[in-house]
Amino acid sequence: MSDFSHSREINNTRYDVLFEPVQIGPVTARNRFYQVPHCNSLGHVFPKAEAAMRGVKAEGGWGVVSTQEVDIHPSTDVSPCMEGRLWDEKDMHRLALTVDAIHEYNSLAAIEITHNGHEATNRHSRLPLMAVSEMIPGTNLDPVQAYKMTREDIANYRRWHRRAAIRARDIGFDIIYVYAAHSLSLLAHFLSRKFNNRTDEYGGNLENRARLLREVLDDTRDAVGDRCGIALRLAVREFLGQDSLSEEEGRDVVEMLADLPDIWDVNISSWMYDSKSSRFASEGDQESYIAFVKQITGKPVVGVGRFTSPETMVDQIKRGVLDMIGAARPSIADPFLPEKIRQGRLEDIRECIGCNICVSGDMTMSPIRCTQNPTMGEEYRKNWHPEKIAPKSSEDSILVIGAGPAGLEAAMSLGKRGHRVILAEASRDAGGRVARECRLPGLSEWRRVIDYRLGQIQQLQNVEMYFESKLDKQQVLDLAEELKFQHILCANGSAWNAEGIGRTHRMPIEIDSSVIRLTPDQIMDGQNVSDSVLIFDDDHYYMGGVIAEKLALEGCQVTLVTPEANVSAWTQNTLEQTFIEKRLHDLDIRLIEKHALISLKEGKALIRHVVSQEPRSLLTHNLILITARKPNDQLYFDLNKDSVTTQQRGISSIKRIGDCLAPSTIAAAIYSGHLYARDFNEQIDIDEVPYRREFIEI
Ligand code: ADP
Ligand code: SF4
Repeated sequence: MSDFSHSREINNTRYDVLFEPVQIGPVTARNRFYQVPHCNSLGHVFPKAEAAMRGVKAEGGWGVVSTQEVDIHPSTDVSPCMEGRLWDEKDMHRLALTVDAIHEYNSLAAIEITHNGHEATNRHSRLPLMAVSEMIPGTNLDPVQAYKMTREDIANYRRWHRRAAIRARDIGFDIIYVYAAHSLSLLAHFLSRKFNNRTDEYGGNLENRARLLREVLDDTRDAVGDRCGIALRLAVREFLGQDSLSEEEGRDVVEMLADLPDIWDVNISSWMYDSKSSRFASEGDQESYIAFVKQITGKPVVGVGRFTSPETMVDQIKRGVLDMIGAARPSIADPFLPEKIRQGRLEDIRECIGCNICVSGDMTMSPIRCTQNPTMGEEYRKNWHPEKIAPKSSEDSILVIGAGPAGLEAAMSLGKRGHRVILAEASRDAGGRVARECRLPGLSEWRRVIDYRLGQIQQLQNVEMYFESKLDKQQVLDLAEELKFQHILCANGSAWNAEGIGRTHRMPIEIDSSVIRLTPDQIMDGQNVSDSVLIFDDDHYYMGGVIAEKLALEGCQVTLVTPEANVSAWTQNTLEQTFIEKRLHDLDIRLIEKHALISLKEGKALIRHVVSQEPRSLLTHNLILITARKPNDQLYFDLNKDSVTTQQRGISSIKRIGDCLAPSTIAAAIYSGHLYARDFNEQIDIDEVPYRREFIEI
């Protein structure tokens, strides 16, 4: 394998503070980089994949590497989510794989054991849900209710937690979590008046509501405290409306328990507040909520804030906000972030863009993926490493057409394998759709997709880039003779269709010329829009909402019609939907849900309720159709049609990737480019499953 982490070590003392060891009870972290627990939907179903992914984080320099939540008993079964399990000793060998992978690089292994009370599902175990109070679940709509835990249930829970802690210690974990965050775990539910209406010694005043948390901390210390550090993960503030854990209460809890844990891992709740996308929060946005913790406790404090800049990290440490730099997303986008800082290779950092595609994996119960890091979740299955790629197995050269995310990723990765690559781009700049979309409101950090790849390509002598080079078939054939490449890769992207063809309409919508009809491409290209605008969003990801936001900010009267029950419905999976809807509401954008556009004639749009079919008409000057995209695949088919000539010119393969093949997310385009580069000139049998599988032993 070519290793791109070759040491260009710079003696840069500015960041030395980040590499100081930190004592966490009886164990010591080798530096201040702390990968906090994060879900990935690998867990007990794909334990080898989980272990390989966490191992890569340790290899990349994270001093502490944590599991995702690990459920301690069948009464906290979260199926179909694929989190960790430590129900009994039969789960231990799976988790041991993760511990071994982390220890191989001298990092500490942390485990977040938990019981989720009424936020479990028990769909698999079929046990009744138990909770702090009689309770109906909040995050799913299952028609079930949880019963209120008796003293006996509380005693059982404490025993299960203690037993899980002991098993975790015996597996080899160095840090055991007591988890009271994200409004997900029993301990958070006991703390919060929102959920806790008990009248016994576990309910009422904060002292009582914190009783179970204190008891579980004591139990865990007593059980494993001599060997393991005890981490308390606490959401110091809940944003769940009335009766949420307030700022004052959060402070009081920290004061009550100040020196009980060996480390405080602090954040805010719920998950959508803790993991805000870059559209709604910038680096370090939790500081104002959690900064007080260090003034109260003498124990180290770790917190998150999508930290990717070493300057910000040093600043957080030096100003006494944090002792350890916590990260989930930055460690997903770049598992080697600490090592790159240590080696002074800041230009090689693959910065998280805050798109929350990683979160969408968990929300859709599918293994983790990442826009910036196509190897995420593929460490075991495909044996992909984020910093290493096999050297070339031939001297072949490749023409890549299109420098969008797919083309850039393919060119960069082929270049790293050592191939000669010619990258031709029609426009003046690289980036394709990302170059345009990152100029939309709130999406500026997406530019990092381009910056990272261009930066890497510039370090490679074997990748030539040509801008303002829109190629047609003849030009490609002429270039083949002149530049002597053997492979053509079409990464020409896609364009939004203007016919309204999408999920609702598989045929064009009837639209006359009484209004100006536009697509997102034209808006992003700077087309001026004024007066009233009707947006028909049949896409349901971010584009409809963000175009509405842009036009409202520019002074248009915007109406957004969507067949879904919520605007930008898919963004529930990126934890953004509520924030998007709130923003559109604040901008006075009229939202008409559960309606489809049927036709637009003489300035009048006919829309219908998707269930009742009741019609309504709306007047508008402009119509923006956000429906489906059409691949720009003409060149690909033109070249393929002329296989005799292409062969005469020495071309042995013509392929297409990314949106040019199947329009999808930016993450999918990058993955597609990466896959092409990894598989290039390798023997791939398409009749075989293209990755290693894990089977549950029978
Ligand atoms: P993807 O997401 O698959 O990377 P994009 O639409 O983001 O797709 O990027 C496609 C890129 O390809 C755009 O920058 C576009 O300008 C470029 N492109 C499209 N057709 C040609 C062509 N014939 N010659 C050169 N570049 C092209
Ligand atoms: Fe960051 Fe997006 Fe990758 Fe998640 S998917 S780690 S938010 S770049």
